[in-house]
Amino acid sequence: MEPIVYGNIKIFPVNLQVHHNLKSFNCYLVEKENSLYLIDAGIDSEDYWSLFVKTLKSNGFSLKDLTAILITHHHFDHVGLVNRITELELIPVYAHEKAIPRLKRDPEFLRKRVAFFEQLYREMGCGEAGEAQVKKLEHAIFNNKHLEIKADILPFKVNKFPFTVLEVPGHSPDQVAFYDSENKILFGGDLLIKHISSNALVEPDENGDRILSLLQHIESFQKCRSLSIDYVFSGHGKIIEQPIRLIEKRLENIDVKAEKILALIKQGVQTASEIAKAYYQKKYESQFSLVMSEIIGHLDYLEAKKQVKKKKIEGVWYYFV
Ligand SMILES: [Zn+2]
Repeated sequence: MEPIVYGNIKIFPVNLQVHHNLKSFNCYLVEKENSLYLIDAGIDSEDYWSLFVKTLKSNGFSLKDLTAILITHHHFDHVGLVNRITELELIPVYAHEKAIPRLKRDPEFLRKRVAFFEQLYREMGCGEAGEAQVKKLEHAIFNNKHLEIKADILPFKVNKFPFTVLEVPGHSPDQVAFYDSENKILFGGDLLIKHISSNALVEPDENGDRILSLLQHIESFQKCRSLSIDYVFSGHGKIIEQPIRLIEKRLENIDVKAEKILALIKQGVQTASEIAKAYYQKKYESQFSLVMSEIIGHLDYLEAKKQVKKKKIEGVWYYFV
């Protein structure tokens, strides 16, 4: 694949197409000012590795040429090749400070995170579905040990890169975007995806307290809307040209969903889990954690706009107008 050239930046996309709703796993080799960066690192698979190596080689590069790996957020489909690369070459890896306990799979943090979800799902009235999800998370502490990133992870304390590192949390608490103001390009991670709206996932912070993810997601959209951007390179799907309209559409969709949830509350559906079942039906079971993130996020949004209040009754939150 030919590189994409704008002004003084050259981008070599590594896009592995897949047959599900994400459409592709993307990472980007980026050449600027005589340095070569890898922005994100895709998934950990043989296919992805060969595509990455092929992209490097066919453009005259080798692993040694990499200046640094820059991670937009800690999700497994953005860091997949980090261990393979850093086992072969000592390439520095940079990510947001908040990504570190997650990428290192720090057991103390992971246990705190499980306790957080246990309490959250109880307070949201989730019953058995919540308990099942907590069990899954408990098992994942042991089962996913191999996903730990072995290399040291350096936080973006001093920016030595030819991009502005923007904090754009919401989809994940540690998400950053890399903004090239000279060429009006944004590497946005999963903030904005062309063909689907990315979820603001409910997560605890490093102390185990809940982050208002959807409110952060909205702020991150607003931050990007104020920048001059011609192209967004996303973690999944196609390049987004002139992203303002899409950002506005995503913001409008949040309002539409919030209105529907408000209507349910007015009809007397009052706990987050009851709202989730009424809104998503079968998906409540099959996509439990995503569905709960969406409902809780929009309830936070309605609360912030003072359109709903909540009251705890026997340990469960009830929402009302
Ligand atoms: Zn993600």
